[in-house]
This record gives sequence, C-alpha cells and structure tokens, in this order.
Amino acid sequence: MNNINMVKGKIHSYHTLTAIDGPGLRFLLFLQGCPLRCMYCHNPDSWLPEDFKEERAAEEILEMFNKYRKICSGGITISGGEPLIQRDFLSELVHLFRAEGIHTAIDTAGSIPLNDSMQLVADTDLFILDIKHSNTEKYHELTGGDLNITLSNAKLLSDSGKKMWIRYVLVPGITDDIEDIKKEAEIIAELNGVEKVVVLPYSTLGREKWKKLNYTYQLENVEPPTKELIEMTKKIFRDAGLPVSSGNS
Ligand code: SF4
Repeated sequence: MNNINMVKGKIHSYHTLTAIDGPGLRFLLFLQGCPLRCMYCHNPDSWLPEDFKEERAAEEILEMFNKYRKICSGGITISGGEPLIQRDFLSELVHLFRAEGIHTAIDTAGSIPLNDSMQLVADTDLFILDIKHSNTEKYHELTGGDLNITLSNAKLLSDSGKKMWIRYVLVPGITDDIEDIKKEAEIIAELNGVEKVVVLPYSTLGREKWKKLNYTYQLENVEPPTKELIEMTKKIFRDAGLPVSSGNS
C-alpha cells in the first residue's frame, strides 16, 4: 500500500483482550467522532472529531496489533464514537487487516449511509450493529439521529450476506415499551445474517464523564433495568425466533 496516499485515523483509544466485542479475544480500537448524542453514551469524550488522542495510519495500527497478535487471536474490532465517520481510514484499515487474514469487525450505530462503501462492507467480516430504538421519533429523541439511516444500512448488510450481531440497549422509560420492543423484534427478524441479538442493560457508567465535560446528563434519575424487565425483553426477542445471547455479549 502506498504510504503517501494513506489517510491517518483519529484515534480515541485502544484496548487489548476484549472478549465481548466480537468472536474470540480481540484488539479493540476506538475511533474519534460521532454524529449521534445518545442519552446513555459511555464515551461522550469520543464525540468531537477534533478531540482525538493521536493520529495513526492503518499500517501503524497493524504494527500495534502485531505485538498482541498471538493473544488477540480473534481479530480486530473497530468501535467509536462512530467508526463510519472516518470512512476512508476505516476502509484502508479493514482492507489491510483482511489482506493479512485477520478477522475484522465494525461496531457501529449505523448512523452514516454505507451505500457508497461497498468495499468496506466486503472487507468486514462482522458488523455489530446497534438498533437503538424501533420508533423513528423516539430514536431521534434518544440519539439525535435518523433511524431510517440505520435501517437502510441494516438492509444493505442483510442483502449483502454479511454476518451481524444486533444490540439493543434497554433503558427503563425509554426503550422498554412492549410495543416498541415487539417492533424491534420484527425489524431484526426481517434481516438475514443475524448471528446474535444482545440485550444490553442500561448502565450509569458514562455519567461521571458527562459531568466532567459539563454536559447535562438527562438520565440522572434512571436506574438500570430489573432482571425481570431484561428477561421479558429477551423473551419477546426469542418468541420472534431471534438468537438471543444469554449474557451481555
Ligand atoms: S453512537 Fe455510541 S458513541 Fe455515539 S453517542 Fe451513541 S453511544 Fe455514544
């Protein structure tokens, strides 16, 4: 690959040995920048593109990965922020890793259209796609974004024969309406290639970061969902014939 043409990625952070963001033990890279503003975001410090920690070319990421290659045998997962916001860098990165025979996964809210990124789609083994709400208005209230973009991307991935894990964050009072969950189940059931559906219970993990950044955390009085609510949600998904994960991964 020609270094002169390489786009540098704006990096938020990286971790090794994550076991929940794709199959096997993995290298997890967080890219900087996100167009959404999810009320429960754990990483509000990843929102602004200019707040990146460092810039790296795809080949430099591969060099970093290679130091951990034996233990991160599952491959690489690229998350964010919203990794699709750095589409050119992301495309180079997955292309390079794929050429090296390394499993590639993208963890995304699908908030940026993929229809002109078919090479990126082809080079990615697994999409971990958040469908954060099934109702267009409530999706917008929760995230500031447009559900239709995510749904178009989900259909494109389904039609392209890609493997997907779908994630649903369960937030009491926001995503726990039974009809909304049933609708979510219907949406997912229409997709091909869904290997796993993960129900993620809302957690207050990001709250302190919001305060540090002087952002107003709107879920101050929201508690994590009860075990019963989590089980009820999973049952709705299971009853729709979906492959629901038993844990958080
Ligand atoms: S898509 Fe992810 S990074 Fe972006 S605001 Fe939502 S939770 Fe945060």
